[in-house]
Amino acid sequence: MLNIVLFGPPGAGKGTQSLNLIEKYGLVHLSTGDIFRANIKGGTELGVLAKSYMDKGALVPDEVTIAMLESEVLKHEDPKGFIFDGFPRTTAQAEALSAFLSKHNTSITCMLALEVPEDELRDRLRLRAETSGRVDDADPKIIQNRIDTYNRETAPVADFYRGQDKYIGINGVGSIEDISERLFEAIDQTA
Ligand code: AMP
Repeated sequence: MLNIVLFGPPGAGKGTQSLNLIEKYGLVHLSTGDIFRANIKGGTELGVLAKSYMDKGALVPDEVTIAMLESEVLKHEDPKGFIFDGFPRTTAQAEALSAFLSKHNTSITCMLALEVPEDELRDRLRLRAETSGRVDDADPKIIQNRIDTYNRETAPVADFYRGQDKYIGINGVGSIEDISERLFEAIDQTA
């Protein structure tokens, strides 16, 4: 299986690039942010809980997020692999994912980390707010909180994969197509 963690701060282009990757490699795309938003739309209990954190730009608690992700993975029979987009976002999530995959005789192939300077992230998120309809894109204070949360809680996840020699940094600045090409090249060298 080809299991990729697509990593990067909010606004790095994980969602956009995931679409190109699933098309090329036939992978299942699991975005925890998308799944939470679908639950909010559907008015589920999970959605109500997730919304209270997401609206502040904080992380949904690990226990809830890990359980949700694992049940999503199990919905797919005989997949070629997964793109994990927006997960893991804490070291505890990374450890849980590793244990879960190894129970199913597979593992993470690599982490592809989109690297984008903070000023550009803020500009991208402000632009995205005009079309995404996302509450958490619209308010500069929430954006700052998401970036701070990323730096404090999520950035250390990169060290988890560096320690396993699975971290691949990708320049996330440029055209969508150019960045996709960089990702394809990195995957083709790994797989
Ligand atoms: P995203 O669509 O990836 O930008 O995620 C939007 C929001 O969903 C985040 O700011 C968090 O509140 C929540 N979220 C998404 N993925 C996770 C995760 N792996 N762990 C905790 N919270 C998450």
